[in-house]
Amino acid sequence: MNFIKFWVWSPLYVMILLITYFDIMLIYIFRDPDTTEKVWLIVHHLLMLVVIYLIFKTSTTKPGTPTYFYTEDDPLVDLRPICKHCFLKKPLRCHHCDSCGKCILRMDHHEYWLNNCIGQNNYKYFFCLIFYMTVTLEFYICIYLIKIIESPPNGAIDTYFIIFTVPLSISLNLLLIPTLAIHIRLILYNQTSVEFFEKKQEHHDKGVIANCKELLGPGCWLIPI
Ligand SMILES: [Zn+2]
Ligand SMILES: [Zn+2]
Repeated sequence: MNFIKFWVWSPLYVMILLITYFDIMLIYIFRDPDTTEKVWLIVHHLLMLVVIYLIFKTSTTKPGTPTYFYTEDDPLVDLRPICKHCFLKKPLRCHHCDSCGKCILRMDHHEYWLNNCIGQNNYKYFFCLIFYMTVTLEFYICIYLIKIIESPPNGAIDTYFIIFTVPLSISLNLLLIPTLAIHIRLILYNQTSVEFFEKKQEHHDKGVIANCKELLGPGCWLIPI
């Protein structure tokens, strides 16, 4: 196998391994579920299916690149730059991604976990992914805590799972919650991560509702379709 190809996809493999670990752990902890616990497990697995679908969609949807067909009369095009790497005329908010080696429309950032750029065509999938990952993790932590409070760990394997799972859950929370908060703020102000970190003074803010419609679609903002 091409080593570079394996390397760029390795963060995604790590993510899939983590999801698998959490799921095995949950099934083990709830190895003899009552009716309520069966409902919890079903809800958890439905959430996980949504997360897996969103991982697939975010990593495989092309973020959008400019084409040669833009003209100076096109309202989407400003007269500024021609990309010095691809020699394409860049529309507003388009940036060249060094990792992808191409210009990306409304580039937000390059997402190494998914080996894809986040841009105009897959930003909604990315935002929904962060949202549903956070919801899934919080739900997981709640049912996990309820379970171990009701039935304290019994034996070495139970203790092993708790020792590894609790710090892992806290670490993921520390990663996910700030990321979600930042992207909620970016959506509310219609900014990209590039613009936010470069402190660009371009104003695209059209008001909260219009910004949400522009970035998450006309309705069903958290339905990832
Ligand atoms: Zn370029
Ligand atoms: Zn990229």
